[in-house]
Amino acid sequence: MKPVTDTYNAQRRFFDSSATRSYAFRKAQLKQLKKVIRRHEAAILAALHVDLGKHPMEAFGSEVGLLYDEIDHTLTNLRQWMRPQPVSSPLLHYPSGSKIYPEPKGLTLLIGPWNYPFQLLVNPLIGAIAAGNCAILKPSEMAPHTEAITRQVIAEAFDPVFVTVVTGEGQEVIPELLRHRFDHIFFTGSIPVGRKILEMAAPHLTPVTLELGGKSPCVVDASANLKTAAKRIIWGKCWNAGQTCIAPDYVLAHETIAAPLLEHMKAAITQFFGENPANSPDYPRIINHKRFDHLATYLQQGHVEAGGGTDREQLYIAPTILTNVSFDAPVMKEEIFGPVLPVITYRNTDEAVGMIARNPYPLSLYVFSGNRKTEQAFINRVAFGGGCINNTLVHFTNTELPFGGIGYSGMGRYHGRSSFEEFTHMKGVMKTATWLDVPVKYPPFGNKIKLAKMIMK
Ligand code: NAD
Repeated sequence: MKPVTDTYNAQRRFFDSSATRSYAFRKAQLKQLKKVIRRHEAAILAALHVDLGKHPMEAFGSEVGLLYDEIDHTLTNLRQWMRPQPVSSPLLHYPSGSKIYPEPKGLTLLIGPWNYPFQLLVNPLIGAIAAGNCAILKPSEMAPHTEAITRQVIAEAFDPVFVTVVTGEGQEVIPELLRHRFDHIFFTGSIPVGRKILEMAAPHLTPVTLELGGKSPCVVDASANLKTAAKRIIWGKCWNAGQTCIAPDYVLAHETIAAPLLEHMKAAITQFFGENPANSPDYPRIINHKRFDHLATYLQQGHVEAGGGTDREQLYIAPTILTNVSFDAPVMKEEIFGPVLPVITYRNTDEAVGMIARNPYPLSLYVFSGNRKTEQAFINRVAFGGGCINNTLVHFTNTELPFGGIGYSGMGRYHGRSSFEEFTHMKGVMKTATWLDVPVKYPPFGNKIKLAKMIMK
């Protein structure tokens, strides 16, 4: 595939020219990105509506507004992040000074999923640019209208020798691209494809960030404010019709409050989307028929407590709550990634922690509780990427918080300073003055070990 090789070679030459390194260049490119996104904002929201039925309010909040915040936060802090950082040096090597130099990595490949097809590709791009890298973006082919507008935005904002978009089927385009040596790969998508990306990166030993999925539990303990918990859980589950990597996947409800919690959740669905959510302009659709058919099978895997309605033609699945669900059912073994919410009861914290361990290393954990000890017990005992106490999803929106998974939910982190660091090599350099040359490190060693032991005790 010659064009890919040409693009790669052109970017390599551009990066090697050092054009991307200065603060002025990075700042100008970030400002340009924001300007062009703003210019095409209406078209981006329209594309997201066609691809996923997202209401403009939802699309703006989660796909565009977040990017404005991320760019502004980066512009405010970039000069300081770029500064070489002095650190102390060991006495043994006196007179020395040490500094950490943040270095751009080079050529980056950013691969996006279909569920937030604009934001999840452009957000890592902000980090890649801030860190002084070139980038090739590969949007998901499953959201074709957003793919097209992404290509247009990037082409208008940047010279392709700096940032460009490559489109096509993932399994064809990505292996072709990865025959070349990239300096960093940033992948957002599913666990099986993430594994393939790691394999393809291995021959060149390219570092990889993997932002994957998994089953994110939502625990509601007996002391929680149930009405607020219900609203925030249903909001988080129905945002993008559950097609969110950090959506609450299932609820673990303490047995003493499960019944009232269910009632509050049903009331929240009606409050948000009316008696028939199919008629609500605020409720999105499933991405395609393949995903629809798979999600529909979950509806038979428990007792339908609320919802359950579907319309295949419209790719509509109602916000659905399931009870009497077995941990052995596929709905409790697979990442749901749709508007189906199993609710399972637990008796005590130990039991809830054990239930979560059946699907270990969730990307997110949500705990609803009025008890600080309970909060801390879950934070300390469960390995998870990030999460919220008494809320869902919103940790993603805080540029001060690192976002990323652990174990099966991924590796690496981004947002704000973490994005800058993810795309940066921290080069450590020690400089030693020549006016003194302490001889302790030179042979013959004789009894110098005594001095070394005094210094390095
Ligand atoms: P996916 O893994 O199917 O696709 C992601 C990207 O990989 C796409 O651009 C696709 O073209 C490409 N791709 C597909 N098959 C490939 C192959 N064989 N070789 C190389 N590239 C290939 O994921 P998806 O269905 O688009 O997204 C859904 C998944 O992403 C869910 O598991 C979700 O949890 C996860 N996700 C994670 C995050 C996060 O931030 N951690 C965010 C959104 C989605």
